[in-house]
Amino acid sequence: MTRCLARLACVGLLACVSLLSACSTVDTTPGSEQRSALIIVDVQYDFLPGGALATAGGDAVIGIINALQPQFDLVVATQDWHPPGHGSFASSHPGHRVGEVIELQGLRQVLWPDHAVQHSHGAQLAAGLDRQPIARVFRKGQNPNVDSYSGFFDNGQRGDTGLQAYLAARGITRVVVVGLALDYCVKYTALDARRIGLHATVLTDATRAVNLAPGDAEQTLRELRQAGVSIGRSADYLDGVR
Ligand SMILES: [Zn+2]
Repeated sequence: MTRCLARLACVGLLACVSLLSACSTVDTTPGSEQRSALIIVDVQYDFLPGGALATAGGDAVIGIINALQPQFDLVVATQDWHPPGHGSFASSHPGHRVGEVIELQGLRQVLWPDHAVQHSHGAQLAAGLDRQPIARVFRKGQNPNVDSYSGFFDNGQRGDTGLQAYLAARGITRVVVVGLALDYCVKYTALDARRIGLHATVLTDATRAVNLAPGDAEQTLRELRQAGVSIGRSADYLDGVR
């Protein structure tokens, strides 16, 4: 689709009609096209129904994401990967409960249940997620003193997972962000993508929210739009190829 739009702009209406049918198969010279990446955020057991930090309906995104993967020039994933006793866990702060907000190393920190603990079952990527197209998995949240919602940088914008450089080295200019959870890790991954100059889109049917407070999902979509993130649906990428 990205390649189609670029060609539409270049060759005009009459010529693009003949090009549309070939869009999904034509390879153009690297550097002369808009290259797109799918970023699959934290599709891990702890964020699925039954997990430590579950999203309602989170398992419904897996099939959609699998169908989306072939539509992109590059597919990468992120994996929340916390050491035991991580600073984002309520259990690390006696007297505080899940959902409370504290200050952690100078940053506002929501306290979570223990989740995505390194090497635990809950930290594993869901078995139903097709791993074959995923070029690389970027782990985050390994620093015990700062949380890391975004797949690019930690919440203090200091720690760098290497995702930005990885995408840049492959000429990626557009990203589509899917996975879990909409109101935290998907949101901040998409916001960081915009901040570093990428065109970013979030697909509403390929993500689910934690909804710590009612309406968090809707508020997140408003914030994303205000930041210049496009909001779409998987059909925008799958129509015409099924
Ligand atoms: Zn986490």
